[in-house]
Amino acid sequence: MRISTLFGRTLREAPTEAEQPAYRLLLRAGLLRALPGASHALLPLGMRVVRRIEALVRDELERISGQECRMPLVQDAGLWEQTSRAAAYGSSLARLRDRNDRDLVLAPDSVAALASLARREITSYRQLPALLYAIGAAYHDEPRVRGLTRAREVMQAEAWAFAAADELEQIFDQVAAAGERILECCGVTTINVEAAPTEPGKRAAGAYAVRSPSGDETLAICLSCGYAALLEAAVSAVSPPYSGAAPPIEETATPDCPTIASLAAFLHIPESATAKAVFFDTPERGLIFVVIRGDRDVNEAKLREVADVSALAPAGIDQVAAVGATAGYASPVGLHDVTIIADRSVSAAGPLVAGANKVGYHLRNVVLGRDWQATQIADIAQVRDGDACPRCGQPLAFERGSVIGRLHRLDTELAASLDATYLDLNGVARPIAMGAWRLAIEPLLYAIIEQHHDDAGIIWPAAVAPFSVHLVRLGKKPATHAAADALYAELRAAGLEVLYDDRDESAGVKFNDADLIGLPTRVLVSDRLLAADEVEIKPRDGEAFKVAREEAVAAISVWVAADRSGDLT
Ligand SMILES: [Zn+2]
Repeated sequence: MRISTLFGRTLREAPTEAEQPAYRLLLRAGLLRALPGASHALLPLGMRVVRRIEALVRDELERISGQECRMPLVQDAGLWEQTSRAAAYGSSLARLRDRNDRDLVLAPDSVAALASLARREITSYRQLPALLYAIGAAYHDEPRVRGLTRAREVMQAEAWAFAAADELEQIFDQVAAAGERILECCGVTTINVEAAPTEPGKRAAGAYAVRSPSGDETLAICLSCGYAALLEAAVSAVSPPYSGAAPPIEETATPDCPTIASLAAFLHIPESATAKAVFFDTPERGLIFVVIRGDRDVNEAKLREVADVSALAPAGIDQVAAVGATAGYASPVGLHDVTIIADRSVSAAGPLVAGANKVGYHLRNVVLGRDWQATQIADIAQVRDGDACPRCGQPLAFERGSVIGRLHRLDTELAASLDATYLDLNGVARPIAMGAWRLAIEPLLYAIIEQHHDDAGIIWPAAVAPFSVHLVRLGKKPATHAAADALYAELRAAGLEVLYDDRDESAGVKFNDADLIGLPTRVLVSDRLLAADEVEIKPRDGEAFKVAREEAVAAISVWVAADRSGDLT
């Protein structure tokens, strides 16, 4: 490709609103342009990187017998309701209607559609295990759209494993390993993090996260044992339930103390000595009364999982009053016929100050189990920086990060909801076990640049570089033009992908652009080099060296091949 004809120019400066370094480079190098409505267009240079990533995905998944298919972006909403997938995405699921008033969704994944296909296509154990995959658009109605890391629409590679329940683990491990090889080829260092509440007996979901100062996710990481989780799923070490004695309950006047902060200040006690009441309205169980230690916050993802509800909304003041509680001074003491979920922090804490269900009054020495009963005691607290690691007890550290892929072992739950079964060896119908794997391609592209750049520009890992060679022509002599054109033709004939800077620009402009675009190998043809019958080869992040003109194609080919296979010293 000649730069003079390449669509999408390099920019000396990024638009001022582009703050993150990797995003600035994407714009400046001409890989991407912002469009109105917080969406993006990939330019030809960016699209070449995406094609390379897709090729890696295809290679790795086909190596483990994956078969490619294509799934629609617009899907029937009924399928999403039937499989509880709509509830799982909540308000981030984009819905629309067609001209016939049919309810549709813009799908963020194709798990439900695939499960419904499996129901029709898979009938016998002989067809299992099966691995399908697709690369296509996915859509999330994001509340906060931000660059490429939290985009509404992305290209997504998805793989789905179908197996007998006892074979799922094996095939899913293969998919997970393929995913790690893809990321390794892309040169991206990822952390495998837990991504859903881990309850005994339930299989964990996982995610590929990257450390990123501009990331939208909080990662809870233990540097001692390697435990790592997204905040939505992070747990801390369990303290044993309180077993000491406590004085009896005592009512105390606490005027104008409707918040934990005002209560703690008024009584001169730490917030951790109080019990906080939080009320949620849920579609499945109505009002849920949550009790958590005053200094802790509820993790809604964990609560949803524990309470087995699809959504949580703040409860109305009438709902709170209807169960006998007083907002601002609410307490579980004396309440019946209401679902009460207590966080472990409350059972471990012993006597706490709780509301008296009476405006202006609280109760001291309230003990769970003695003074009130919880319907359920569970871990529903948001983990905090410095909390004890659930595995080794060392303090957890918080880091910023982004998620670029996810793994879900769905087991037989989803298939069972669709009645997707196969006949086993003995002719018995059994639900198909499923696993899903996803990789978001633009966020991956972003992560590659975030991890591979310097002040001058991008430094592409060889496997995903848009071109292998950046050929620069310097000098005005017709002989130099002819020599550069000839080398361009020879390199392409040798099977190399070459970006040829054939513009009449200064050396400064051309070298800056070469560094900015960041192809692995820069090759220079100039009046001066040609006089000595030489060309110069310079790795993007290394020193330049010269080779004889007649050996250039062979030398460059060897160099590029070595770079690709990681054999460079
Ligand atoms: Zn640990």
